[in-house]
Amino acid sequence: MKLSSTRHSRWAGASPRNARWPRRAGAFGLAAVLSTTLATAATAAPGSEQPASEAATGLAIARVQVSGTAERQKLMDLGLDVIDLTSTHAEVLLHGETDRARLASGNWPVAVSDVSAQLTAMTAARAAEDRREDARRTDPTLASGLPTGRVSYRTLDEAESEMRELERRYPDKVKVFELSRRSLLGHPILGMEITSDVDTYSGKPAFLTSGLHHAREWPTLEFTMEFAWDVLENYGTDRRIRNLVDSTRLIIVPAVNPDGYRISRERIHEMKRKNCRVAAGAVPTWEQCASPDAAPLGVDLNRNYGAFWGGPGSSASPTAENHHGAAPYSEPEIAAMTDLLNSHQVVVAVNNHTPDARLLRAPSSPLEPVPAEVALYDGLAQQLGTALGDWPTGPWPEVYYVASGVAEQQGLYANGTLGFTPELTPGHSGLERFHPQYQYVVDQYRGVGAYPGSSIREALLIAWSAAADRRTHSVLTGSAPRGIELTISKDVSVNSSPVTRDGETAVLPSDLRIESTIRVPDSGRFEWHVLPSLRQSQDSSILLPESWVVSCRNPAGKIHRAVAVTIGRGETKAIDLSRCPAGPRKPIGAGR
Ligand SMILES: [Zn+2]
Repeated sequence: MKLSSTRHSRWAGASPRNARWPRRAGAFGLAAVLSTTLATAATAAPGSEQPASEAATGLAIARVQVSGTAERQKLMDLGLDVIDLTSTHAEVLLHGETDRARLASGNWPVAVSDVSAQLTAMTAARAAEDRREDARRTDPTLASGLPTGRVSYRTLDEAESEMRELERRYPDKVKVFELSRRSLLGHPILGMEITSDVDTYSGKPAFLTSGLHHAREWPTLEFTMEFAWDVLENYGTDRRIRNLVDSTRLIIVPAVNPDGYRISRERIHEMKRKNCRVAAGAVPTWEQCASPDAAPLGVDLNRNYGAFWGGPGSSASPTAENHHGAAPYSEPEIAAMTDLLNSHQVVVAVNNHTPDARLLRAPSSPLEPVPAEVALYDGLAQQLGTALGDWPTGPWPEVYYVASGVAEQQGLYANGTLGFTPELTPGHSGLERFHPQYQYVVDQYRGVGAYPGSSIREALLIAWSAAADRRTHSVLTGSAPRGIELTISKDVSVNSSPVTRDGETAVLPSDLRIESTIRVPDSGRFEWHVLPSLRQSQDSSILLPESWVVSCRNPAGKIHRAVAVTIGRGETKAIDLSRCPAGPRKPIGAGR
C-alpha cells in the first residue's frame, strides 16, 4: 500500500524543565569544562587531546546552544542521547566518536565536559550504598523508609530471587511466570501475578506495571519490586490494598530489558539505555554486547512496539539512542511484552521510566488522532500527575517530546489498554540523571524528603484502582457449565507509521491475535472483566466497531459454540453459553 502522510506535525518542542525539583551539582559543577568545538574533537586522533577517563569510558557530555523549535527538532532528529533540554540549551551524552561526528554536523556552539569526576563519585556512592546494605541486614536501625528497608540498588539476580521468595512466602497470592520469549541473550523475562487465590482464575480485571524498558533507569526496578512487597505485606492490614488484591490481578514485570540492565548495573557500560542487539537479525554473545564497540548499539525497546513504529521520534540508525530496530516487534523483549498484553486483558498499565518529572499518555506522535475516549483517559492521567506532585501531564508531544513505537501506543491501538509513563526521580544532572543516589528512590516511593507530595506508590495505587473501576473496562456475564473453558478472542491489525523502504513509502501492518481464557467456576456463573471490543482507530478520533468472539470448546479443542459480542468501555453484557457441552467434573484448575 502506498501512503503519503498529509497530517500536520504539531510538535511544539519540549517544555522547559520543571523548576520545582532539586538540581544537584553534576558534570558542570564538579568537573572542569573543556571548551572545544566538536568539529575539532571529532577529527582529532584517538585519545590525543581527550582526558584519559573519556578515552576509557567513551563518555562525555556536550552542552549545546540550541534555541527555537526548529533547531531543537533538528538536534532531536540526529538521534543523539539528549539528556536534558531547555529553551536555550541541550545536554547531550556522547557515547563515542560516532556521536561526536554526528553532533558536529549541526555546527552548534558546543562545550564538552569531562565526566570522570562524576563517574568516580557515582562509583564511590554505589560502593557506600552496598556497604550500608550489608550492614542493614544485621542492623535494623539502618533501614530506609521503603517496604523492604533497602538502601541500595538491586542487581538482577537479587530482584529475581526476591520474586521467587515472594512466591514461596505467599503461594496463594503470587505466581511468578516467564514471559513468552526470553531476552536476546536468552535470559528469562520474569513477571509476577498477584491476586488472592492466584491459581483460580475468575476473570478479574488486570493492572500492569513494568520497569527497565531502559537499562540505565535503575529506580524503575526498585519501585516495581518495592510495590510488590508493599502490597503483599500490607494485605492483612490495609483495606485499600486488600480490596484491590481481592478484586483484580496485579501483573508486575520489573525488568523488561534484563540484558541491558546487567550491562548497566554491573557498570560495564553504565549509561546503556537500549538492549543488546549488535547487528539486525543476529543474536549476539554476552561478550559482543559488553564490548566497548557495542556501547552505542542496541534497539530502544520503547520504540520497537508495532503501533506507529518507525515514525517521528525514532531512528533507523543502529547507533541512535532511539533506534527503532529492524522491524516492528523485532526485539524478543518487546514481542514478549506484546504477547503479555494480548493474553491478559490489561485495563491500565504504568510503564515506569526516569528522570524528567512528567506523566505521559498517548498520543506520542503527531501522526496520531486524539483518542475518542480522551476525557476518561486524560482524567486518569491528571489524577496520576497530581499524585506525582502536579507534574506536567498529558500527551508526549505536549509535555515532553515526540516518540513512536512506545508502549502506550501499542496498548491503546491494539488492546484498548490505558497506558501511562511516569518519568521519575527528577532533578539530577549529567550522568546521575538516570539513577541518582539511592536516597532519591526512597523519597520518590512515598513522596517524602526530596520529593514532598510526589509519590509513585500513590500513583500506582490510583492506576490500579482505576483498573478495578467498571467505567474503564467491559464486563461479560452469563452462565455456562461449570469447569468448562471459555475463550475470548479477536484478530486485529496494527499499523506502523509510514516508512520508506526500497524507495516506496508504506505502512507495515502487523496481524495480532488477542486471546484469553477462563474456566467457569463451580457456581456456573461467570463475570469476566475484559477490554472493550470497540477499538481506537489509528486514523481518526473514532472507535472501530469490532466484536469479541466468545467460544467454548470440548477437550479436543473443537469449538462448540461461538458468540460475537460488541461491547464498549463501561458496559456490561450478558451472554448465553448455557448450551456449551458440560466439562469434566474435576477440581477447577489454573486455566488462563
Ligand atoms: Zn526511559
